[in-house]
Amino acid sequence: MTNAFNTTNSQALFNAAKELMPGGVSSPVRAFKSVNGDPIVFDRVKGAYAWDVDGNRFIDYVGSWGPAICGHSHPEVIAALQEALEKGTSFGAPCELENKLSQMVIDAVPSVEMVRFVNSGTEACMAVLRLMRAFTGRDKLIKFEGCYHGHADMFLVKAGSGVATLGLPDSPGVPRSTTSNTLTAPYNDLEAVKELFAENPDAIAGVILEPIVGNAGFIPPEPGFLEGLRELTKENGALLVFDEVMTGFRISYGGAQERFGVTPDLTTMGKVIGGGLPVGAYGGRKDIMSMVAPAGPVYQAGTLSGNPLAMTAGIKTLEILKQEGSYERLEMMTKKLINGICESAQEAGLPITGSSISGMFGFYLCQGPVRNFEEAKQSNAEYFSKLHRAMLEKGVYLAPSPFEAGFTSLAHSEDDIDATIKAFKECFNEIN
Ligand SMILES: *Cc1c(COP(=O)(O)O)cnc(C)c1O
Repeated sequence: MTNAFNTTNSQALFNAAKELMPGGVSSPVRAFKSVNGDPIVFDRVKGAYAWDVDGNRFIDYVGSWGPAICGHSHPEVIAALQEALEKGTSFGAPCELENKLSQMVIDAVPSVEMVRFVNSGTEACMAVLRLMRAFTGRDKLIKFEGCYHGHADMFLVKAGSGVATLGLPDSPGVPRSTTSNTLTAPYNDLEAVKELFAENPDAIAGVILEPIVGNAGFIPPEPGFLEGLRELTKENGALLVFDEVMTGFRISYGGAQERFGVTPDLTTMGKVIGGGLPVGAYGGRKDIMSMVAPAGPVYQAGTLSGNPLAMTAGIKTLEILKQEGSYERLEMMTKKLINGICESAQEAGLPITGSSISGMFGFYLCQGPVRNFEEAKQSNAEYFSKLHRAMLEKGVYLAPSPFEAGFTSLAHSEDDIDATIKAFKECFNEIN
């Protein structure tokens, strides 16, 4: 680490990038707009750390937004990729690696009997909605405020992530007709869902949700919420879809559905199953998945889908995660971190509410409890901006938005966690 926090090279590269790419980035939240700052340009990542183009080292709690659960550039993943690379980067034909990763996903995730690979979480969610509609012969969909299911038109209604961050309730360019079938309810509100079913008899194809919200900060489901949705969808002939793009293989090896013991009909995945390469997937009951082309009539395809490099990174990542003690370690380290953050804030007299499950955590700078997106918005955004910058200066890289969950990895050491808590403590005492 350098003595004074210097961002000269990041600044120069970002200024140049703004002329080349909209907002200077390839994905909105990266631009630091919601923390009123300029982004740090990364040079390389390894284990729990990221290094920027000015030589600063950060303890990273973004982890490429989730995939880096084994730690960045895990040596076994890199070695497997190097070997796979020799055999080619893309086949556009079936490969054995797809069988292998499919089998691993089917063995791990309770709801998944068959799986289709795609290239991103967005694609997985788009495809799953088409499938829900085809299977039920119904058009309407229920989603929750603050839940993000990628950037497809139908989901850009009260969406979280960058949409929440930038305060866009919607996006221009999305036709009203496309979202007219998207109904929304507050998270953790079963009554609201019940009402929507009552008001739209035999018209709702299904309910999609993040089983733990990670795109509006970090909001766990209240006891009974997931179970209640399972009941309600069943009663109304609708499908239940867990969007586990973030929680899959992170909350437990079988995802949030395994952890909470509630099995949806369909599941979308991404992030961790790609091990840092671009992958998404959707899967579920065999009778539903059998409708996907070419087994059935529901069209969905992809030039690079199931490509050997992405499959290799996914397989190796899951093999590492499957080893004994992985999730216990993530749970313990992350709990220690969030407890340390919350205690430090309280000692400094700052209102805070935070929690974690497995390797996923979040906090809001308000009294709490936070059970939905409305309550999440009470978090002190101005303070968070100052905190974000101050933590960067102390070598800790947090998600550049109060509405994104944090991620730990198997590479974060006890020392990293202690150093992070110490940095938080200092920041809470210095900022006013
Ligand atoms: C990240 C995310 C997506 C979108 O995945 P991309 O790979 O960014 O397209 C969808 N749903 C959830 C829950 C996510 O966290």
